[in-house]
Amino acid sequence: MDHAATTYTRQDVLEAMIPYFHDRFGNPSSIYQIARESRAVVETARAQVARALGAEPDEIYFTSGGSEADNWAIKGIASASRKKGNHIITSRIEHHAVLHPCEFLEKAGYEVTYLPVDKYGLIDPASLEQAITAQTILISLMFANNEIGTIQPIAELGAIAKQHQVPFHTDAVQVIGNVPVDVKAQNIDLLSISAHKFYGPKGVGALYIRKGVRIDNLIHGGDQERKKRAGTENIAGIVGLGKAIELATADIPGYNTRLRALRDRMWKGIQETIPYCRLNGHPEKRLHGNLNVSFEFIEGESMLLLLDDAGICASTGSACTSGSLEPSHVLMAIGLPPEIAHGSLRLTLGRVNTEEDVDYVLEALPGIVTRLREMSPLYQKGRG
Ligand SMILES: *Cc1c(COP(=O)(O)O)cnc(C)c1O
Repeated sequence: MDHAATTYTRQDVLEAMIPYFHDRFGNPSSIYQIARESRAVVETARAQVARALGAEPDEIYFTSGGSEADNWAIKGIASASRKKGNHIITSRIEHHAVLHPCEFLEKAGYEVTYLPVDKYGLIDPASLEQAITAQTILISLMFANNEIGTIQPIAELGAIAKQHQVPFHTDAVQVIGNVPVDVKAQNIDLLSISAHKFYGPKGVGALYIRKGVRIDNLIHGGDQERKKRAGTENIAGIVGLGKAIELATADIPGYNTRLRALRDRMWKGIQETIPYCRLNGHPEKRLHGNLNVSFEFIEGESMLLLLDDAGICASTGSACTSGSLEPSHVLMAIGLPPEIAHGSLRLTLGRVNTEEDVDYVLEALPGIVTRLREMSPLYQKGRG
């Protein structure tokens, strides 16, 4: 129930990868036969990624994952455009792989506007339009949120960036296999993905960079990735990424129909058995596998511990027990009071989940919530 955190590597993907750990170990930069074979499979994977995104193969650059792709897009554009301006626009609900590079750049003298979102987590395109100045060098807005699942009107946001001739980056890490991506139709100049979010291996991802976008290198060294990203290629990982994205995008409607049925069954069951709960994120414009619910009067991390005892893996926007009193920046940005944000539970469904899994959670969860509420002075007061 935590597929937004990571997914397992599919068997067919794993099998495609295995030879490249062992007997087919050539370095693509060498010129003999097994090296040329490594070069060829990297280029096959590049074409697979390009096809899934509606891009050209020479617009795809492999990275070590989503965080590196986000860092590269933001720092690389900022440094290449320093003479043009120093203003970056992003949102309050970005992943930390976008927010923290932006904060880092603020310390180096850049200015960053963090666009607010409404109660569903949606960015108002008019607010983007208003935020753009003559100094704006980059707009980075996530495609779909990893916590609450809200999907942004990305083509519309991209069109505004295009009108003003500002490069538009989107973190699409949660999107692959869930929402169709077409970088040209959606007006996207840079886009980050990560294989382990769509049944591929960890430690490999890619950045799409539209031809003509000026960007500095993040990692300097050898001539790999057309001299833009140095380091001997993670051949097995790249093969896995290519295979995984091809499989994940082969039947998006079918995958969504299945996930949505499970997610709706879960939400219906929760509402029928547990009082004082509310849905976080948009009711419709959300990732089909994502359910984020706040249970009033309790604390998310205690809920996670009891769910874990029952063998259920989930996630929360609360961080009370880990010493950080601040709940999730995403839940705060949609306007939840801290005590409601602390009672949040994220359940994210995936390929392996069945109706039986959902029913198992629905059996365990009401008792857990009741138990925690009975210990909560807030609940005794709130009810009275
Ligand atoms: C997981 C995730 C990342 C980070 O990707 P890694 O490959 O784990 O570095 C970035 N953005 C979003 C939205 C994510 O869900």
